[in-house]
Amino acid sequence: MRLGAAALALAMGAAAGGCHRGPPDGIALVGATVIDGRGGPPQRDMVVVTRGHLIESVTPRDGFHMPRHTRKVDATGKFVMPGFIDAHAHVERWALPRYLAYGVTSVRDMHGTLDSIMDLREKASLNAFTSPRIYSAGAMIDAAPATYPNALEVHDNSEARKAVDKLAVKGVDYLKVYTRVTPPMLHAIVDEANSFGLRVAGHLGLTDAVTAADIGIRSIEHMSGVPESAGDAAPLYAAHEKSFFAGWTAFEKSWAGLDSAALERVARHLAQKNVILVPTLVLHELYSRLDDPAVLRAPWLAAVPPVARTRWNVPDMIARAGWGPADFAAFRRSRPNQDLFLREFLRAGGVIAAGTDASNQMLVPGFSEHQEMELLVRAGLTPADALLAATHDAAVLLGADSIGVVAPGKAADLIVLGRNPLDNIQNTQSIERVVVRGQLFAVDSIRRSW
Ligand SMILES: [Zn+2]
Repeated sequence: MRLGAAALALAMGAAAGGCHRGPPDGIALVGATVIDGRGGPPQRDMVVVTRGHLIESVTPRDGFHMPRHTRKVDATGKFVMPGFIDAHAHVERWALPRYLAYGVTSVRDMHGTLDSIMDLREKASLNAFTSPRIYSAGAMIDAAPATYPNALEVHDNSEARKAVDKLAVKGVDYLKVYTRVTPPMLHAIVDEANSFGLRVAGHLGLTDAVTAADIGIRSIEHMSGVPESAGDAAPLYAAHEKSFFAGWTAFEKSWAGLDSAALERVARHLAQKNVILVPTLVLHELYSRLDDPAVLRAPWLAAVPPVARTRWNVPDMIARAGWGPADFAAFRRSRPNQDLFLREFLRAGGVIAAGTDASNQMLVPGFSEHQEMELLVRAGLTPADALLAATHDAAVLLGADSIGVVAPGKAADLIVLGRNPLDNIQNTQSIERVVVRGQLFAVDSIRRSW
């Protein structure tokens, strides 16, 4: 035993000596105000030290001694917080550096082509390229006839269970069901998912939100299924049966006519069932303004490569959806009730996560996360609550306790802001540096790389 201990001491000494000569493996962000991501009070004049992939320490500058082997970065007067999490994304390779440049260090992918998205997640985790962390549902499960050709299309409950098994074997992080899934099928999916410990998220159509909550869905995307619970569901189900766009259009318009007491009842029910909402207000807001030429020419669209913008083909989408000026006006009339519903949900103790639906049409990966936070504040959240939705609460949704928080032992995924986001939520855009997996980047250098 004593020999072993001596050998260990020797080995440690050798390691320390090697350390001294090697390149720094740590970063010290010195002098910043720390916003911890968990809603704690901001702490002024702190030092955050990272080592490898992790946060090593978070301490006051007063009395701090620089550890060896650590690169010092002056962050005096700046704000350090966890990197943002986009809680509803459709990840593509080109989008990855955009996310980082806008301070998004984790994305919750909600559907793609199964093998390619799993491959992308694998490469990102191996650091094959500079990327946020990718969590993924793989491919969505939808009932026949499926909306998207790359969905897992199922005809009955037994096929639905097999789809869950297939996704579990592929190693997805959670499951996503789509608009054509009915309550009995959702029941089968949630039951099968439980046997793998997988959570189920839903963009609902033929199942209303309250029923989905009672069946055991973990999160509801886009506030889908809420009008079906709060108002007359029959015409909405008829529209969902007809086509995806018919369903979406009817759903979106129906909000304007919903009764506030009914919305409050649904909000309370979902909160009691611990359903997390990913409202994607930026999607609702943008699609209500597609007839505004300024929206189509917004300067932030320059971050999207021409090939992706061509693929977006917004005029074609509008034509396929059959939207005209009266539809956009109706979508805009629905926005106040969507915001009201979120306020009621929050008041009932519900948890909201900030997600965007990027990189679908007009939603710029990374930038749209800031738009979402701004819209959450406009809906009635405090800036502190909006930050929580984009950090800790989105991490809760992912079941990932190592991200979305600044604390020793947690992931070294951080951003350095020039201005205080608690004063004005638009200050989330004042990003100067990004740390992901312990690697430090200046935002300008990421921008130069695309
Ligand atoms: Zn989506």
